[in-house]
Amino acid sequence: MNNIGMVFLVGAGPGDPGLLTVKAAELIKKCDVLVYDRLVGPQIIAGAAQDSERLFVGKESSNHSLPQEEINQLIVDRARQGKMVVRLKGGDPFVFGRGGEEAEFLKLNGIPFEIVPGVTSAVAAPAYAGIPVTHRDFTSTLTIITGHERPEKKESSVPWEQIAAGKGTLVFLMGVENLGTIVSRLIAFGRSPDTPIALVRWGTLPYQEVLTGVLHNIADEVKARGFLPPAVIVVGEVVKLREDLQWFDNRPLSGRTIVVTRARSQASHMVAELERLGAQVIEFPTIRIKPIAAPGLQECLVKISEYSWLTFTSVNGVKEFINQLNELGFDIRDLKGPRICAIGPATAAEAESRGLRVSIIPPEYRAEAAADILLSEMEAGEQMLLPRARGAREILPVMLRERGIIVDELEIYEAALEASVSPHALGLLKDADIDLITFTSSSTVNNFVALIGAEGLSGLQKEVKVACIGPITANTAVEAGFTVDIIPQEYTVDKLVQAIVEFMGQNA
Ligand code: SAH
Repeated sequence: MNNIGMVFLVGAGPGDPGLLTVKAAELIKKCDVLVYDRLVGPQIIAGAAQDSERLFVGKESSNHSLPQEEINQLIVDRARQGKMVVRLKGGDPFVFGRGGEEAEFLKLNGIPFEIVPGVTSAVAAPAYAGIPVTHRDFTSTLTIITGHERPEKKESSVPWEQIAAGKGTLVFLMGVENLGTIVSRLIAFGRSPDTPIALVRWGTLPYQEVLTGVLHNIADEVKARGFLPPAVIVVGEVVKLREDLQWFDNRPLSGRTIVVTRARSQASHMVAELERLGAQVIEFPTIRIKPIAAPGLQECLVKISEYSWLTFTSVNGVKEFINQLNELGFDIRDLKGPRICAIGPATAAEAESRGLRVSIIPPEYRAEAAADILLSEMEAGEQMLLPRARGAREILPVMLRERGIIVDELEIYEAALEASVSPHALGLLKDADIDLITFTSSSTVNNFVALIGAEGLSGLQKEVKVACIGPITANTAVEAGFTVDIIPQEYTVDKLVQAIVEFMGQNA
């Protein structure tokens, strides 16, 4: 007989991937089988190992896509095969997640299990709306209630009389569809019709929406606005605190949808910054960094001390140069001789992180400025090594050669067209209400156009704002038919993000 596996009933938190517990993240990474519900976001699922089995079992409030008995049986079967199973549920597994029932079933079948609590939406969604569920000045009780009870049910399991009495905060989950019944019962059993109420839809996620009102008008409001589930409903005086404590939707880029077209391997810093500022980011990588084994590299390394300068023009250039140098059996000690020039602070930081001291960073991060400063340091007949991307602009070597400097160029990588655009990203691009597209190089512009095609482009160019990292990229964008709204003074990703914030602030 096989060893019996193990089941972890794990809370995934309310949606923001940052609210996943450390323990949950570790288990998701390690498990053999991941069984998850609708309210668990794709970013969290993406944390599972490539070879893990991922089973979506649906579960919507009114439409269970796999019956609970089958879910239970599936989990038990996998555990009996000796698998480590993570049963992942939105929020906390024991707060209206039927986690209790699943645990009982495991116990009954002799399957070992552990419970990993999660951050429940009942508390987190109000918190992201600036509503503390308890506050000494207003209430010291909190009741979490199912809003999903069928209205035709004769014997209510919700003690309406008790919860309506007093001033305690009430949080209803799964209640949007029954909102009319909920508020009329609360009023009928004695809550003031003027009690504040808030609905928080998709709480903690970039597209969170909040609707506030009072008991007697909220149902009409919800209908008028077409406000849809899933939402957490909060009732009580604490809702008023939102006026003061609102924060999530006040961030500089809240409510903005921004497309990032950089290569996936380079995008993370920019994506994290934009998200921290409140934006919803759609990652649409248009390029893929592809190393090119440079035939001349070995020879250049052997005579490295003859170069007076080694110039890096990008982070990828540094990475590829060092990788290939290592593959050829050299290491950074073999770079003795030339001084190092890095175009841009990120390039310099990458070089320094590899133990290479950078002597100059040109004041402006483009080839012309680099040529000027190098020319002020070099004389005719001196040599420079320039490892960089295939298809890079000719201006730097041309300007140096005109003045008698010997430039050895090495093509060590190329920005290839990202061949596999995920249908998910493409769908988002078509459906989402995009505010802004960012381009961080000419190849991101050209490839973006190639990937989404003329038809997709004509839909986009009218209203969407465009931000480019610098003037060269902006020219390419203009040639492709875009109107460029944002170019930072300094051509770095951080300055680009800052310029986006300023622009959006002025165009709110
Ligand atoms: N175990 C979950 C609740 C499951 S019941 C938890 O602890 O959060 C499903 C209900 O939770 C939804 O109908 C909705 O009312 C609420 N919910 C879950 N995630 C939510 C979110 N991000 N924003 C708003 N409501 C959410």
